[in-house]
Amino acid sequence: MKYAIIIPDGAADEPLKELGGKTPIEAAETPNMDRVAMEGRQGVARTVPEGFESGSDVAIMTLLGYDPKVYHTGRAPLEAAAQRIPLSPTDWVFRCNLVTVVDGVMKDHSAGGISDAEAQRLIADLAKALDLARFEFHYGVSYRNLLVYRGSEDFQLTTKPPHEMPEEPVSRYLPRGKGSEILRKIMDASKEVFADHEINEVRKETGHNPATQVWLWGQGHAPSMPTFDQRFGIARGCMITGVDLLRGLAVLLGWDVHEVEGMTSFHDTNYAGQGRATAAMLDEYDLVLSHVEAPDEASHQADWQTKVESIEHIDRYVVGPVLEKLRRFPEWRVLVMPDHPTNIATRKHGYAPSPFAMAGTRVRSVVKGPYSERNAAASDLRIERGHELMEYFLRGGNL
Ligand SMILES: [Zn+2]
Repeated sequence: MKYAIIIPDGAADEPLKELGGKTPIEAAETPNMDRVAMEGRQGVARTVPEGFESGSDVAIMTLLGYDPKVYHTGRAPLEAAAQRIPLSPTDWVFRCNLVTVVDGVMKDHSAGGISDAEAQRLIADLAKALDLARFEFHYGVSYRNLLVYRGSEDFQLTTKPPHEMPEEPVSRYLPRGKGSEILRKIMDASKEVFADHEINEVRKETGHNPATQVWLWGQGHAPSMPTFDQRFGIARGCMITGVDLLRGLAVLLGWDVHEVEGMTSFHDTNYAGQGRATAAMLDEYDLVLSHVEAPDEASHQADWQTKVESIEHIDRYVVGPVLEKLRRFPEWRVLVMPDHPTNIATRKHGYAPSPFAMAGTRVRSVVKGPYSERNAAASDLRIERGHELMEYFLRGGNL
């Protein structure tokens, strides 16, 4: 059996006035996702359990069959796994975003989707200026950097993701609790280091959001999870993604990570290259997961046109070729599913159960309708404990 999982990150949404009362998925031309839905079945799964913030770290862990209540320690430790940063059980990892704050208001959690090279210069200069013992900065992709702490402080912190406070005063959401003083000190210091930084001068001149400071959040210790093989008996898995969080999950699951030239977390990503690679990897692997971040980022920018377009690109360049490839194998299954909604109206992640479509060997056709939030919700397949979906997908059972 060959398995493909395609995740259009944050694609699910609410009906929008701008789209005549349709959701972006409904408004997008998605003949391939519709084929999956109509040949197989649709349903919804709650990927963000109660008590958790909606985010890809929690939602994708759930989607892959791991209950976040048992396995989730934070977002940053997953990204540390992606970078293969060795961690001892007492080390802490923090996400260190480059963000744009203007007059105390969070304008952009991504500092205008800053480039890797620019981000690295800023982070390197901040590390030099701070010169803090026991803290290490690690570069990630674009604005997503990490801060590792190898000391004895036992943090008990409340932090907030910067993408959850768009256009809001940041003073409400500064890190609080035991050990938070040092984090606030680092964030304050970054404002000074970045204020007149050459990189920011150039960004402002060219109409890009400057990185005005770092924002620390998503902290945790290293997680300990059984591999996907140990959990589900499927040995050869492959991850294709533009973001470190997913690469980290792959490392923890015991999967290989396949890189594609030109793959980014934004709409400029190489959709066609990713689609071709996903189809090709199905020859070698039992399961291939292809994750595209672009719809999520477009939602955070409230850019509904780009969101619709990115869903159409995923359909045409990833789902299409993957379906075509799968049909050459005697037994196969495909699952298309956003990890969580990201709502254009709020520019934040939502909590509605995520709509999924699956098709393939021994998946019975039930609902005759194109893939959409509404059709998925109208089906009788509603998985409250989202981590049970993976078992259904892999084994079929009584779907
Ligand atoms: Zn997001």
